[in-house]
Amino acid sequence: MLHPDYRFCPRCAAEMTVAEVAGRVRKACPACGFTHWNNPAPVVAALVQVGDLILLARNAAWPPKTFALITGFLEAGETPEQGIAREVQEETSLEVEQASLIGVYEFTRKNELIIAYHVIASGTVSLSEELAEYRMVAPERLRPWRAGTGLAVADWMRARNLPFEFVDLPIRPQTGS
Ligand SMILES: [Zn+2]
Repeated sequence: MLHPDYRFCPRCAAEMTVAEVAGRVRKACPACGFTHWNNPAPVVAALVQVGDLILLARNAAWPPKTFALITGFLEAGETPEQGIAREVQEETSLEVEQASLIGVYEFTRKNELIIAYHVIASGTVSLSEELAEYRMVAPERLRPWRAGTGLAVADWMRARNLPFEFVDLPIRPQTGS
C-alpha cells in the first residue's frame, strides 16, 4: 500500500507544502515542521513448507488460478521473525517451527520492501477471510515470476538446484489439484 500523499499535516492539520528536506523534495508542514518521509513499508513474505510441499495461496481479491506467497505488513515492535510467524498463523492457522531468511527484495512500485523467509510449518490449514483458497505444490513445480516475492521463490529454487523458468506474474502452478 502506498503511503498517503498528505494534503494536510497529520499532526497539526495545516496545509502541507513541497520542500527540499535532507536532499530530496518531500511534503513538509510549514507550521509545525512535520516531514512526510514516505519511507518504504517493510512487508514480510513466507514460502511456507509443510512436509515436502509448498503452500501457495490465492488472495480473495485476486482472479482465479492466481497464487502466491503469504505476505503481510510488519507491525510496530515486531522482529521480522515474529512478524512472519504471526502472519502465517493468522492467514493459514499453521504454526511456524523455523524461519530462515531467503533475501530482501525491492517493491518500489508499492513503496514496500519485502523480507522473504523460507518457513517450515506444521498443523492443519485453515485460511483467514483474506485468502480464498490454497494449493500444496511440490518444490520443483514452483514457477517464479520476475517481481517482488517471485524473485524470492527464484532464489530459493536456485539455492536448491531446482531448475525453473520465470512465468508471468503471479504464479500459476500446474498441479491440477
Ligand atoms: Zn504540522
